[in-house]
Amino acid sequence: MQLPSALLEQAVSEFSKLPGIGRKTALRLVLHLLKQDTEKVEQFTEAVIRMRKETHLCQRCFNIADQQLCSICSDMHRKQDLICVVENIRDVIAIENTQQFSGTYHVLGGVISPLDGVGPDQLQIDRLLRRTVEEPVAELIFALSPTIQGDTTIYYIQKKLQPTTIRFTTIARGIAFGGELEYADEMTLARSLQHRMPVEQLRM
Ligand SMILES: [Zn+2]
Repeated sequence: MQLPSALLEQAVSEFSKLPGIGRKTALRLVLHLLKQDTEKVEQFTEAVIRMRKETHLCQRCFNIADQQLCSICSDMHRKQDLICVVENIRDVIAIENTQQFSGTYHVLGGVISPLDGVGPDQLQIDRLLRRTVEEPVAELIFALSPTIQGDTTIYYIQKKLQPTTIRFTTIARGIAFGGELEYADEMTLARSLQHRMPVEQLRM
């Protein structure tokens, strides 16, 4: 696909680096922007640049945040002693969309997977353990992949915290979690949170 302008070509090439965007779609998006007022395009680019430069990870739970603490951690109406442990930020968004969870989160950044070179040190596990010392924690709800790696991670964290009065639960199985949590429909996800079960019932 030959384009009549080097600058147009450059923009198309940048857009087509985005996941799921081929050159044709990239061209359509770029031509759309070209039709807009300069001001509109500046708003668009500014939003992207500010998002990149000004967001960071919440100091407490590792969710995306604009301030030191994310909007969930700084919301005192939420149950601060109830922590849902997830793999990534997309899981937080999926669970938030159910509007059924009023606790806080802890984003691990993945699960323990020795074959992929992911050990406890590569994840935010130490920070979670520290939270249980620094904050009153009543329950940890694990919403991790129902895989050996997910179960290993639950087992590891639970062992590290013994002895403890913290309740350990896992959201009901039967739907895909982890990276696929975001694709689960909200009703199913909400139900699996309500019907969470004690971790001891997992076969480990
Ligand atoms: Zn947070």
